[in-house]
Amino acid sequence: MIRGADIREISDGKLYRSSDLVRLDTGGCAGCSACCRDMGGKVVLDPYDVYRLNASAGYSFEGLLAGPAVLSVADGLVLPVLNMDGPDGACRFLGEDGRCTVHPARPGICRLFPLGRYYQGDDFSYILQVGECEKAGAKVRIRQWLDTPELPRYEAYIRSWHALTRKARELADGGSDKLRTMISARILEVLYQHAWDLTDSFYPQYEAQEAEVKRRIGIL
Ligand code: SF4
Ligand code: SF4
Repeated sequence: MIRGADIREISDGKLYRSSDLVRLDTGGCAGCSACCRDMGGKVVLDPYDVYRLNASAGYSFEGLLAGPAVLSVADGLVLPVLNMDGPDGACRFLGEDGRCTVHPARPGICRLFPLGRYYQGDDFSYILQVGECEKAGAKVRIRQWLDTPELPRYEAYIRSWHALTRKARELADGGSDKLRTMISARILEVLYQHAWDLTDSFYPQYEAQEAEVKRRIGIL
């Protein structure tokens, strides 16, 4: 998630949509695992990541916090991030062969890399981060690279999640320590510890839970 940065400094300067062709195919990464190391605090898990890791890899939220993830302050809110405390700063999900052990359930930020999201208001474009991945070369369509079913629905969810966390941060920034603690606690409780029905689609469940957390925090 990239906010307030000059895109000419961090990317090729272009804004992309999911239908665009971009030079980001890494050819299977061929022995490289650089972006799965030393990314401490950068791979924030959103509620869909937690749902997906549970549905496809069997990790409950509590199971994630027992090792693969930790709670960390991310832009003013306490949210789960991937734990990069393995050998050479490796993510706990990185296998000894240098491959991701939860590849089908990997988080959204991992799916993006070396792309990033650049937000303008609550909408976002994709950007190609420069100097992050030496192997990115052949052109591939972004929607293919993301490997995410129902992409328009997922993108709508990402906008909604971003809007919620932006409003929560604004409220927390102007409030007391007690208010900040309450806001993070409600988000964790309602959107992460929730017992998602893994046999049903995530999105309608998220909409209901988002309405609930807004009500509890006091965001209209
Ligand atoms: S840095 Fe690039 S090539 Fe290396 S693992 Fe990440 S995406 Fe693959
Ligand atoms: S979840 Fe997988 S792809 Fe993401 S940082 Fe960890 S090992 Fe790498």
